[in-house]
Amino acid sequence: MLGTGTSAGVPMIGCDCAVCTSDDPRDTRTRPSVLIRYSGHESDAPPRQFLIDTAPDMRQQVISQGISRIDGVLYTHAHADHIFGLDDLRRFNAVMKTAIDIHAEPMVLASLRKMFPYVFTPENNINPSFIPTLIAHEIEPNQTLDFFGATWTPIRLMHGRLPILGFHIDFAGKSIAYCTDVSSFPPESYPLLQNLDVLVIDGLRFRHHPTHLTIEQALEQIECIQPKQAYLTHIAHDIKHADVQPTLPENVFLSYDGLVVNVGDTHARQDGGI
Ligand SMILES: [Zn+2]
Ligand SMILES: [Zn+2]
Ligand SMILES: [Zn+2]
Repeated sequence: MLGTGTSAGVPMIGCDCAVCTSDDPRDTRTRPSVLIRYSGHESDAPPRQFLIDTAPDMRQQVISQGISRIDGVLYTHAHADHIFGLDDLRRFNAVMKTAIDIHAEPMVLASLRKMFPYVFTPENNINPSFIPTLIAHEIEPNQTLDFFGATWTPIRLMHGRLPILGFHIDFAGKSIAYCTDVSSFPPESYPLLQNLDVLVIDGLRFRHHPTHLTIEQALEQIECIQPKQAYLTHIAHDIKHADVQPTLPENVFLSYDGLVVNVGDTHARQDGGI
């Protein structure tokens, strides 16, 4: 879990609440992103690593986790808190000496082209400059993608009225789903959420929000989806980790930045990272 905070991050600029001033590292939350890592088919290759989203804090996130190469980026949607780290992908180009594949829905790719014209239409740049080299691929819900032996399937989620994507990842008999920024699941998406080892799901805060699940709503969805373990993410400053974690069911956890969830061992509580 690279970043587990809501769009403003925690602490928020100009807030002196108990969570924004907490000295518990689990109460410091950068903008939402996750790294999915698995060993591919090739025994001599390094583990495959995919970013879901490029948060504004992506640079600090990957540096703190020692990540120096990635095999691709998948985007959930084009909100600022999920894309504004895109420029920093150029360092991976430089280190890996290759272009980077990015995968998103056509509408999201159109937004990226609009927000980063210097990246996608470099011929218009006044000076030659160090920009990311990206190869854009269109994806759509329910289309299965094979990335180095893992099956990725985009899941349609509703983020208020905005249709966005979550991702189901199936590898070596284990399956996980990452569903951030969701306020409801269309009925046709539930089949992709069966028999999950791990579900990562939006759990913003206790108060209602028009485009995110509250903690209570997330727990209702978890009850219905029945994953072995669930992790809440996109967490606002209303949630003090040490106070809220003990109130959750035993297979439901608040995520925190740096948390490593080992999907090969979902029987025990995960305590990687911090
Ligand atoms: Zn968001
Ligand atoms: Zn605060
Ligand atoms: Zn969003």
